[in-house]
Amino acid sequence: MKGFDYLQAELNEMKKQGTFRTLIPLESDQGAKVVIDGREVIQLSSNNYLGLTSHPRLQKAAIEAIEKFGAGTGSVRTIAGTLTMHKELEEKLAKFKHTEAALVFQSGFTTNQGVLSAILTNEDVVISDAFNHASIIDGIRLTKAERKVYNHVDMKDLERALKESNNFRVRVIVTDGVFSMDGNIAPLPEIVELAEKYDALVMVDDAHASGVLGENGRGTVNHFGLDGRVHIQVGTLSKAIGVLGGYVASSKTLIDYLIHKGRPFLFSTSHPPAVTAACSEAINVLLEESELIERLWDNTKFFKIGLEQLGFNTGKSETPITPVIIGDEALSHQFSDKLLTYGVFAQGIAFPTVAKGLARVRTIVTAEHTKEELQAALDIFEKAGKELKII
Ligand SMILES: *Cc1c(COP(=O)(O)O)cnc(C)c1O
Repeated sequence: MKGFDYLQAELNEMKKQGTFRTLIPLESDQGAKVVIDGREVIQLSSNNYLGLTSHPRLQKAAIEAIEKFGAGTGSVRTIAGTLTMHKELEEKLAKFKHTEAALVFQSGFTTNQGVLSAILTNEDVVISDAFNHASIIDGIRLTKAERKVYNHVDMKDLERALKESNNFRVRVIVTDGVFSMDGNIAPLPEIVELAEKYDALVMVDDAHASGVLGENGRGTVNHFGLDGRVHIQVGTLSKAIGVLGGYVASSKTLIDYLIHKGRPFLFSTSHPPAVTAACSEAINVLLEESELIERLWDNTKFFKIGLEQLGFNTGKSETPITPVIIGDEALSHQFSDKLLTYGVFAQGIAFPTVAKGLARVRTIVTAEHTKEELQAALDIFEKAGKELKII
């Protein structure tokens, strides 16, 4: 078809630069090992922190929900698409996060878009960490609010931005709880103190912290003992929770407001019963099987120390996300390809997901990996790293 020459030209340029990617389909479920091209390889690229995507309790809940309530809901939440199980999941999430109320969106991405675009006008200012997730950035783009970006986790710079924004109705500080590409944790206690000093609201996106940090995986707010001092907690149901969706946990006022003004909530169909029931069961698993989180952290320590001892640059990670920072885009993808050849699936990540010159292979261990699998992965990292002269 004619008309797309300008796009094809850009794609051709990517191919020349070695940055053109094809999708890699899995031929198995999302486990510690997955099947790619007929070969079993060690999976280090998923966000399936606790192995919940295939947990028997979640599968059973999903199947029973389909049998009883069908495959879809046929409507948006605000017209005819709210089932009792949607309300029950939201009540469970609010209790889990120690907030008054919670609201589920179709994804973590749409949650950030929905919340930010609903609560900010041109009278307000949003103050955002430079490394925040794309969904926060896009959410901010949807508002007419004044935007200020502070240097990544730089509290002096955050204070500067707060001082410069005296004249607005509402100031909202927004940050990832755990930064998805570096695995470092936001300095929430300092952020909250500054917010209280300057009378700002705090919004934390705990996509990579829910199910990972805090009591039973309640997230960074609970991890730092800040329950009740962070105004808006966003979470995803797509990572450690193992299914799909996003949610916001906050005051009843905000939740009631979003039911009227959260555009993805209003204009996109609600989650099918299988998704909602599986998410709900996942919260029960978090509360009842705390050994999963213990295993996750045990594996995290083992693998992180292993990579560091091999001499890789793992940046400032403090969580199960451990980047192996390479710098050059093409070399990162080459490294990733070599790892796959030797039996490890760890994706190369480059611009625009991370800044230019900071391309990397990102690893995430899960509770499901055995020590033998992780040691085998370390051996493969060593072999591929030496061959490409990265270490
Ligand atoms: C993954 C991620 C999201 C998006 O969540 P989905 O449920 O996959 O849409 C939002 N914010 C952050 C920080 C993330 O890492």
